[in-house]
Amino acid sequence: MKVLVLNSGSSSIKFQLFRNDDWTVLASGSVTRIGEPEALMRCRWADAEGTQQSLEDCAAIPDHQQGLQRIAEALAQTGALADTAELLAVGHRVVHGGEAFHAPTLVDDDIIEVIRQVIPLAPLHNPANLDGILVARKLFPTIPQVAVFDTAFHQTMPRTAYRYAIPDFLYREHGVRRYGFHGTSHHYVGRRAAQLLGKPFEHCNLITLHLGNGASATAIREGSSVDTSMGMTPLEGLVMGTRSGDIDPAVPFYLSKHLGLDNDTLEGLLNRQSGLLGLCGDNDLREIQRRAEAGDEAAELALGVTAHRLKKYIGAYLAELGRTDALVFTGGIGENSAELRARACAGLETLGIRIDAAANTAASQQERAVSHAESPIQVLVIPTNEELQIAREAVEAVS
Ligand code: AMP
Repeated sequence: MKVLVLNSGSSSIKFQLFRNDDWTVLASGSVTRIGEPEALMRCRWADAEGTQQSLEDCAAIPDHQQGLQRIAEALAQTGALADTAELLAVGHRVVHGGEAFHAPTLVDDDIIEVIRQVIPLAPLHNPANLDGILVARKLFPTIPQVAVFDTAFHQTMPRTAYRYAIPDFLYREHGVRRYGFHGTSHHYVGRRAAQLLGKPFEHCNLITLHLGNGASATAIREGSSVDTSMGMTPLEGLVMGTRSGDIDPAVPFYLSKHLGLDNDTLEGLLNRQSGLLGLCGDNDLREIQRRAEAGDEAAELALGVTAHRLKKYIGAYLAELGRTDALVFTGGIGENSAELRARACAGLETLGIRIDAAANTAASQQERAVSHAESPIQVLVIPTNEELQIAREAVEAVS
């Protein structure tokens, strides 16, 4: 049987089709620019001889329903999914599950209503995610649809980690608390780390760092998330591509009072003009590293602030976890930037983290250890695979 994974955004749908016995990717791609005059459809698949093939076409795709229809046609055309009856399940990425969802969930009318109720917590993401579910139900009415939430993995955090020290009614009546995101990625690399360590996940204490354009750190105790750096929204925590991460909550009041900035401007400032971009004018870490190496002070500062924040979170989570088996790097930056890994871990030797310079800088796209053989805490680089995790969780939910 096969599993289709959909990640539906406001103007795009990304997809991957897996065979569920060995998790081979049969096809993948996206429809982007939905609603624009020329939407782009991309599909890659392996033909009967195993040779990679691809197709691309441009045509107007007015809405998500036609976007998904186009994906289904492409999958039929390539032979990857000749008959939709071959589908065991469709797995949907849903960004926010609030407190309602602790696990992947089989979608029915009631579940759709609950996802709708959570929209105020993720107004930019959940409506598009829900749209994807609604059109998939229409197009594949007999196939189970499973919602997999970015927040679900973090629902095991204790109250002491998820509550903010603000008036109680804000939590009780308005859901203001920390939820955490990137849960699918932290869960995936956590499980892979356990396999590499040769221990059951439930016996592992790990710090996982998902470092991409968005970035978050998670403390995992005995297989469960006990703390994470993102909060009620994905703005809290580490320095990101264009997001500030942690700042004094009084900064927006100050800017509002003294510069007359309104809420929307402040939100845009902290979400889209801050982070690496705000510090040095670039948010592509490769370019920032190149500039820093050439002596550019702003780029050097951006790397320094990012590594300093990372180190603070690693230290905090070491203190929370006590015994720690491994520190895991993932995401575009975590997987590829030896420089940032080295900066984040520098000086942590007395806390049990010792990087091996040669292993850290060796070019590789594989799962690997980059710590010194005698490092008490292993440092691992594990490429994330959120689609595979969603596919697996979808199958678990239907069986
Ligand atoms: P993601 O959001 O996971 O796709 O990650 C995007 C980030 O990864 C961007 O800041 C990229 O500059 C960064 N990145 C990708 N490849 C490399 C690389 N080889 N070295 C350093 N950073 C990289």
